[in-house]
Amino acid sequence: MRVLVTGGAGYIGSHTVLALLETGHDVLVVDDLSNSSEESLRRVAELAGREARFVQANVRDAAALDAAFAGFSPDAVIHFAGWKAVGESTQIPLTYYRENLGSTFTLLEAMAAHDCHQIVFSSSATVYGELSEPPFTEDSPTGATNPYGRTKHMIEQILADAAAADAELRVAVLRYFNPIGAHASGRIGEDPKGIPNNLLPFVAQVATGRRDKLMVFGDDYPTPDGTGLRDYIHVVDLAAGHLAALDYLGGHGGFHVWNLGTGDPKSVLDIVHAYEGASGVAIPYEIVARRPGDVAASYADVTRAHKELGWQARKSVEQACEDTFRWQSENPDGFADS
Ligand code: UDP
Repeated sequence: MRVLVTGGAGYIGSHTVLALLETGHDVLVVDDLSNSSEESLRRVAELAGREARFVQANVRDAAALDAAFAGFSPDAVIHFAGWKAVGESTQIPLTYYRENLGSTFTLLEAMAAHDCHQIVFSSSATVYGELSEPPFTEDSPTGATNPYGRTKHMIEQILADAAAADAELRVAVLRYFNPIGAHASGRIGEDPKGIPNNLLPFVAQVATGRRDKLMVFGDDYPTPDGTGLRDYIHVVDLAAGHLAALDYLGGHGGFHVWNLGTGDPKSVLDIVHAYEGASGVAIPYEIVARRPGDVAASYADVTRAHKELGWQARKSVEQACEDTFRWQSENPDGFADS
């Protein structure tokens, strides 16, 4: 297939582009590099032995997108591009709505204009909010508690409406739990700008001495060790989930939603210990107050993806920590090293 990938130079995007190229698909990446690096695509090409085409553009740029569709004639789109920091989204909500919703409109219009009828969308388990108890099934109630999460929730609804109005349009919404890890080669991985918001990148920087200690946000949750429980999924498993969703859309019309997680919750301290095991380095930490907006536990019921896509997560958090450690040790400044 010919697959146009927005945000394909980013963390999850680059691992998925690699999996697409390795499977024999042709790929065109559209990415404005606002939070990613072209070096990731050079390394993907090196690993795959073949290249993705690349257009540097914001997905809201209708003229650039039109030219990309006209030149590449994609059969399907995977839409990763988007702003993704929860805290930042509460500070600059309009930017989040403009970028995340606007890019989706431009993309859907370009797809319609160029006879492309399949889209896989990067959504998030954040849409389950605090409305019910985990494990979350795809039918659990959805909502959101911050502007970032609301953009994901709104885009899901926009895609559902678009699919209801157009019998040709096929939509896969993938709700990611907590992506972690890196490619086993150590060549591509997560390269957050500034102070990492997410647990594993922060722990990784503590292990290399770039940060003093981890702040553990609360140990008084109603969980086995009192710290938050999450469903950490290896990014290479996640990438494989996108290929499974694309395959499914090839044979089925309509609008579909799948959780991509492991179904096996881990605490903050489980992750600290797994990373200590992988790195051989002690991770100093301090228990501090809960982070506003955090829930005690979030993890997936993964039955539907297993049944319908034949997909399941295979890699452990220990493997993810080993892969992140390798990536971090070999690229202490991320892609800026090269
Ligand atoms: N967390 C933490 N210290 C940090 C970052 C995260 O204790 O510096 C905890 C957070 O409270 C949550 C878990 O780690 O229980 C995962 O947080 P992350 O931000 O990675 O993902 P989220 O589940 O919030 O999307």
